Amino acid sequence: MKIIFLGAPGAGKGTQAEIVSERLAIPTISTGAIIREAIKTGTEMGLAAKKYTEAGALVPDEVVIGIIRERLVKDDCKNGFILDGFPRTVPQAEALDAMGIVPDAVVSLEVADEAIVERMGGRRVCDKCGASYHVKYNPSAKGEVCEKCDNPLSIRRDDAPEVVKSRLTIYHESTEPLKDFYAKKGLLRLVEGQEKLEDTTALTLAALEAGK
Ligand code: AMP
Repeated sequence: MKIIFLGAPGAGKGTQAEIVSERLAIPTISTGAIIREAIKTGTEMGLAAKKYTEAGALVPDEVVIGIIRERLVKDDCKNGFILDGFPRTVPQAEALDAMGIVPDAVVSLEVADEAIVERMGGRRVCDKCGASYHVKYNPSAKGEVCEKCDNPLSIRRDDAPEVVKSRLTIYHESTEPLKDFYAKKGLLRLVEGQEKLEDTTALTLAALEAGK
């Protein structure tokens, strides 16, 4: 199954994608995680992406399209995959079309802006394995360290309140039009983000089931 997760930054795409990915035994491909890893290791792409990502801006389409093109040809994608954070613009979605990739479902996680701002303030991430937590909604079982690899958790630089505001503006301007793009293709499933993450998961799985 090929699934796309849409939603504002902090809507819970990564968390839901991770859960669905385990259930369906297909990989999650997160352009944000690939970019953060490239920044950490200092690759050429990482250096080019850094200034955009840290300012909360989108990395240019040709860069992320290149990342996806290289990633989707790998062996683990042959039975399907989940895209978390791609596409984020109409040209990116058109590039996916041009690669001949037709998603089975596009899930948009709907969360109001005010709730997003609160969620981002509580988000904690593991720089080592990429796991994501929330101090209130999805805490690490081990408190301040990652429950998977015991690495101390940190706050993403782009989760600072002023950066979050600009990321939300960019979401509404550049990414939200994708809902229309996929609704016209009959692929869009709206899922209202719930307070409890397991409730959102139940709605997400039901939405995916309904599309079969
Ligand atoms: P995320 O982890 O999905 O919130 O992504 C973190 C950051 O990576 C974003 O704020 C962008 O700077 C960059 N990024 C990730 N995916 C994309 C994309 N599809 N298009 C452009 N920039 C992206």
